[in-house]
Amino acid sequence: MDNATIDLQHQFYDMLMQSQYWSPERMRDYQRSQLTHLLRHAKKNVPFYENRLDAVLKSNGDIDWDRWGEIPIVKRSDLIEHREAMQARELPPGHGALKVFSTSGSTGAPVSTTHNSLAAIASKAVSLRSYGWHNVDWTKDLCMWIGDNPSSNWPHGSREGSWGPLWEPKARNGHTTYLNRATTTANVLEFLERTKQSYIGSRPKNVQVLSQYLIQNGGRLKLNAALTFGTGITAEERADCLEAFGCEMLGQYSSKEAYQIGYQCSAASHYHHNAEIVLLEVVDDAGLNCSPGQAGRVLVTPLFSTAQPLIRYEQGDLAVLGVKCTCGRHLPVISRVLGRITHLFRFPDGTKVAPSIPAKYQILLGAEYWQVAQVAPTHVTIRYVPISWDTYGDQAAVATAVRSHIHPDITVSFERVREFPKVYGDKYIEYVNELT
Ligand SMILES: [Zn+2]
Repeated sequence: MDNATIDLQHQFYDMLMQSQYWSPERMRDYQRSQLTHLLRHAKKNVPFYENRLDAVLKSNGDIDWDRWGEIPIVKRSDLIEHREAMQARELPPGHGALKVFSTSGSTGAPVSTTHNSLAAIASKAVSLRSYGWHNVDWTKDLCMWIGDNPSSNWPHGSREGSWGPLWEPKARNGHTTYLNRATTTANVLEFLERTKQSYIGSRPKNVQVLSQYLIQNGGRLKLNAALTFGTGITAEERADCLEAFGCEMLGQYSSKEAYQIGYQCSAASHYHHNAEIVLLEVVDDAGLNCSPGQAGRVLVTPLFSTAQPLIRYEQGDLAVLGVKCTCGRHLPVISRVLGRITHLFRFPDGTKVAPSIPAKYQILLGAEYWQVAQVAPTHVTIRYVPISWDTYGDQAAVATAVRSHIHPDITVSFERVREFPKVYGDKYIEYVNELT
């Protein structure tokens, strides 16, 4: 990162330290000012948005915020079908170099989005603020277990630079080392111990897989914290991490498309929405705003993403908004992030369930990994990689538990597998609904 970029990030970070205490009205005004730039840019430079914003953005450039909810929601399928039309012909000055990110998604259809560097710079500044909330020590080493870069192979991974604020000289003491996801559980643990890492970064479920492996093999390893990203963290994931590594999971709610949407508060397990970099809406099936406590579909508008603007993008999560936090910060509260929409199980009697089966049943089954799939309206299959191919766990007891946690009228079958299909890519999806 060059000095001008470091200065820019530093300035934004200083603003974030103030803005976390802004009143809701001041934050709304700030967001509207950023959105005004984004909408005008999108209409002028991005063919996909040429007429899509007409309800809100008038021909003279004025904005009618009361009609915001009339802007059509951008779907994941739009990113595939209209990829070319969603690219900006030109960028506002200073919005930076481009990068393309791809995600596999739960349906296996790869989706690519184009990102400009300003959005990444702002997102990193938000991370640094969150680390401060939790006294995360960026002078220590962090191992990121992520991605598929062949240069990040075990046993050495790829060692990169500082992960702390680059304007602080002591941040040079801490390094990030990447290990790719092809690294086995045992080898990740070996690496953490051998190279004396203080932090692990990965998805919550991956950290839980590490934790359970360590627990089942009678080992323990001390880490300062597990820095997780992606979706929400379950109570069981937190408990396993604490038992195996003697540390907390600190969760970031994020996606490749929208960067950091929220970060866990230091005073509670809920998240604070990073309102300075992304507009977050939680809406019901009719598209109306949900009230606090009501689960709804997440729509995001990353404020600095100008290379491929995403205005009211539904990325496939459900979340519940909360009320004001007691920690003193005024940032809005996301009380829970539920699974991706495709992971909800739906039954013929109309019930919808976000399934969560305690990990003790996974152990009872003798499963190293498992995946619970709704494969028919009233049938669930548990695919699992057995710890031992010579023995079977208590399938009858597990089936009873699955019925009690998901739906009483379902049948349950078991399938022993060598590994899970590649279609799931980087994501370890524990609960998947395979019905169309
Ligand atoms: Zn708080």
